[in-house]
Amino acid sequence: MKVAFIYNDIFRNSNFGDYHPITLNRVSNVYDLSKIINFQNVEYFFSKIATEEELLLFHKKSYIDILKNTELLQTITDENKKKYNLGTASNPIFREMYRRHATATGSLILAANLIIKKKYNYIFSPGSGAHHGQEDKASGFCYLNDIVTCILYLRKKGFNKILYFDMDAHYGDGVIEFFSKNKDIFTFSIHQENLWPRTGKFLFKEGIINYPVKEGFNDRNFKDVVNNKLIKEFKAFNPEIVLMQMGADCLEDDYMSKLSLSNNSMAFIIEKFKNISKNIIVMGGGGYNPWTTLRAWVYNLAVLADEKEKLKLTNEGVNFMINIYNKKKPKHKWIENIIDFPNIFED
Ligand SMILES: [Zn+2]
Repeated sequence: MKVAFIYNDIFRNSNFGDYHPITLNRVSNVYDLSKIINFQNVEYFFSKIATEEELLLFHKKSYIDILKNTELLQTITDENKKKYNLGTASNPIFREMYRRHATATGSLILAANLIIKKKYNYIFSPGSGAHHGQEDKASGFCYLNDIVTCILYLRKKGFNKILYFDMDAHYGDGVIEFFSKNKDIFTFSIHQENLWPRTGKFLFKEGIINYPVKEGFNDRNFKDVVNNKLIKEFKAFNPEIVLMQMGADCLEDDYMSKLSLSNNSMAFIIEKFKNISKNIIVMGGGGYNPWTTLRAWVYNLAVLADEKEKLKLTNEGVNFMINIYNKKKPKHKWIENIIDFPNIFED
C-alpha cells in the first residue's frame, strides 16, 4: 500500500514574517525534493481548509472568530492581543494566519479520512504538528492545535486506542495536557529539559510518559531508552493508530535546542512503530535549520514508503539543497546526503 503525502501550497505561499524562526519554505521544500527524488510508493493529496465544525471539536468559537477577524483586519486590540496571545513576536499577525493553520488541521482531517476509508495506512503530513496550540489561544507558533482536533475526530469516528508520540525538542504540552486524564489516548513526549515551555517533568504512568532529557542526548541514548524502557509500553498499549510529531528541532545542528540526535533516530522509531501499529500519521513540527529539517522529513517519508535506497541525491537534488535558503551557507554534510553519518542503528 502506498503512502499518502498531504500537502497544500499555502505552506509555500504564506509566511510568519521575514524575521520569524519558521522559515518560508520548510514544507514545500519537502514536497519539491520528494518530487525530484521521485518516490514510487508515494501518492500526493491536496488538503482543504478545515471547516468550522471540525475546528470546534477542540477550539472555542470565540477564538476561531478572533483568528478569522484578525486575519481579515490585520490588526488586533491590546485587550485581545493579551487574551489570545496573538500579534506577538512568536505568534505574529500575517496575511494567511487563520487559513494556514486551519489548512494544517484540514490536512489531518483528510489523513484521518484516508485511513478510515482504508485507502491508506501510512500518511505523511509535514505541514501539520502544531503541538502547543490551546483551545482558546495561540502558543509557541501554533495558532490552532491540528493534532488534538484530529485525535478528537478519530475518536468520533470510532478509534478507541490512539498513541501520540512527540519527538520535538519542546514538550508537546498542548496535546498532552488536554489528554492527560484519558487513558485511551497514550501520550508520549521526549524533550530537552528546561527548554520552553519548561513544563513536562518526568512522568511514567499508564497513558502518559513525559521524558525530559539533558543537553547532548544522542542516538546511543535514544536507542537505549527506546529498546529498554519504551517499546514494551507502546506494544502493550496496542494502538489502532499512532500520530507522530517529528519536530526536527530535536536534531543536532538545530539552532533552538541542544540535543545531539541524528536523523537516523527518527528513522529508527518510525520503523519500530511500523511493527506496532497498522496505521501511522507522521507530521512535522519544529525545525529551524532548513537543511537538517528538510533532510529529516524527506528521510521520514522514505522510511514510511520503504524507499530508503532512493535517498542518494542526484545532481538535481544537491542543487536543490544548496539553494533552499539564501541567508546562510550550508555545511557540506547538509547538502550531500540525506542520511546522517554515522548510522548506529544499522548493526
Ligand atoms: Zn519544537
